[in-house]
Amino acid sequence: MWNAIAPLLEFVDRYHGLIIGFAALAAVLLLNQLIYRRSWTSYPTREDYLAAHPGCATADGVVCDRCRQKASSMPVKGAGRIYRCAWCETDLYRVDRG
Ligand SMILES: [Zn+2]
Repeated sequence: MWNAIAPLLEFVDRYHGLIIGFAALAAVLLLNQLIYRRSWTSYPTREDYLAAHPGCATADGVVCDRCRQKASSMPVKGAGRIYRCAWCETDLYRVDRG
């Protein structure tokens, strides 16, 4: 019995910093998912966003209206995708699950 869990304990002992880091990251991602889902309809749709910021539709795609960086998307389980600016951390718009 001990022989079976000893390597596991050794693994945890050696990498506990890393494991805690990953757990914290997972918790943050999960929390983000919950927050995005909870206030899903408060984010503008792509059409609304472009109507409010016409200059943000470029040949390269939709950009942030503050810093002009390309938006990056993140899947939100059960809702769709959220597009946000990774530079200034602004939520830009949502795309509902098709
Ligand atoms: Zn930005």
